[in-house]
Amino acid sequence: MPKVKRDKNSIHFSNMTGKLKGLRAISTNTITNPFCIKMSSTKKENIICGKCYSVDMLETYRKNMQDCLQHNSELLSNSIIDDVHLPFIIDAYIRIDAHGELINNTHLINIYNLAIKNPHTTFAIWSKRKDIVNSVNKTRQTPSNVILIFSNAVIDKVMYEPPKHFHKVFNNVTDTHKEKEQNCTGQICIECMACYKLDSGVDVIIEAEKKNGRTIKTKVKDSNSRRDKLDAIDKQWDAILSAPI
Ligand code: SF4
Repeated sequence: MPKVKRDKNSIHFSNMTGKLKGLRAISTNTITNPFCIKMSSTKKENIICGKCYSVDMLETYRKNMQDCLQHNSELLSNSIIDDVHLPFIIDAYIRIDAHGELINNTHLINIYNLAIKNPHTTFAIWSKRKDIVNSVNKTRQTPSNVILIFSNAVIDKVMYEPPKHFHKVFNNVTDTHKEKEQNCTGQICIECMACYKLDSGVDVIIEAEKKNGRTIKTKVKDSNSRRDKLDAIDKQWDAILSAPI
């Protein structure tokens, strides 16, 4: 397939599907991110990066997304984007790095600048890169419309306090771990929005780990309502996989 010609200064926005359906995201390429390469090659069973959904997708049935995500990786991390090239965004909420991870300080500064240019939009950034956030926040304040969500890499080790500068923390657990505290499992973001609102009252998010969008179920018997919810998510995922790209 011929490569799509892109304006070298334009950030690519992705229309999200599955759990994130209805949101747009500014993502980057997980496959070429040195931090993701290192983390996803872990042999430790309890590190979520070893089961990275993004690596699975981008290496197989969503391989064709890599071109636009790589474009964003380079645009956002190579240099500070001129204000005139930062787009006006119409959305109320934007997800940052549904694929990928912060690459360097320049990447985060570009997102902060984008947020300053679009004060009417809330930007939710998931990241494991405490080092980048700490470094940038030595000289810059997080814009008030940016929500920093620390993505805890360790499965079944729930963090109840976000690290310094982060507003919320996202935890992965096996489906039977802290089952009653799981407040994200089986949910759709636009019906929940806990992560996208600073005042949602939910700063600790817990989700059962997934594989290809499906919750990994370790228990034979779930409660009926919970099982129904998880099955509904699986069906939705089947529809997404069979849809044309
Ligand atoms: S807690 Fe809600 S908004 Fe956050 S990731 Fe889960 S479903 Fe989405």
